[in-house]
Amino acid sequence: MAMVEVLNLEKDYGKVKALRGISFSISEGEIFGLIGPNGAGKSTTLKILSTLLKPTGGSAKIDGHDVVREADKVREIISYLPEEAGAYKNLTGYEYLQFMARLYSKDDERAREMLELGVELSGLGERLHDKVSTYSKGMTRKLLIARALMVKPKLAILDEPASGLDIVNAYEIRQTIRRFARTEGVTFLLSSHNMLEVEFLCDRVAMIAGGRIVELGTPKELKDKYGAENLEEVFM
Ligand code: ATP
Repeated sequence: MAMVEVLNLEKDYGKVKALRGISFSISEGEIFGLIGPNGAGKSTTLKILSTLLKPTGGSAKIDGHDVVREADKVREIISYLPEEAGAYKNLTGYEYLQFMARLYSKDDERAREMLELGVELSGLGERLHDKVSTYSKGMTRKLLIARALMVKPKLAILDEPASGLDIVNAYEIRQTIRRFARTEGVTFLLSSHNMLEVEFLCDRVAMIAGGRIVELGTPKELKDKYGAENLEEVFM
């Protein structure tokens, strides 16, 4: 069974047609990317799959559960990192992870394991004991990604996980995602406007523009079609 099954998804914001019938499926353990220019409909697709928005038409299932009718069940098995997410600034990074681990765990033992994993995934070392308010954008994003992954969701939905960051933090975040996907078998759906990023991370990519999927394939297939040197320009 596919982990994600999206069929003819449509979303209108008043008169704006953000999605005009999007279909794709993602297998278990796959890293799937949505790539496209600003306003293409990437965030809207991710918000519908995260149960934050209801589609105007079509359907989407995650691990067999309908995102509208079984939204509670879906929320239990996904992690969602929005594009403009922030962490509690008055906590230290460690306190933030600890708080989240307790929130998402049934018992102390599980919370401890989760926290341990979060600490490791963050890669923040001693800086975890400083307040989040002292973190750079890249450090905050690392903390949020650690939070999203430490719960070991069946599906991690990440909206532009490494965009707008310095190259070192962006590189480390991509490494963390790739390593985690391979070792834990977690399925990923992420958005990006950076072709090199999806080439590094993704097994398959859907190119989206104007609320429609215009190409779907492996990064290599897209590269062969558009030419390596043009990849970054395709949607610019
Ligand atoms: P970005 O990279 O800029 O986030 P995106 O591909 O994620 O772009 P969406 O945010 O999904 O695109 O937006 C798709 C379309 O829907 C755009 O035309 C956008 O202006 C519009 N849109 C998004 N959110 C709303 C909203 N809350 N109300 C009205 N229109 C919206």
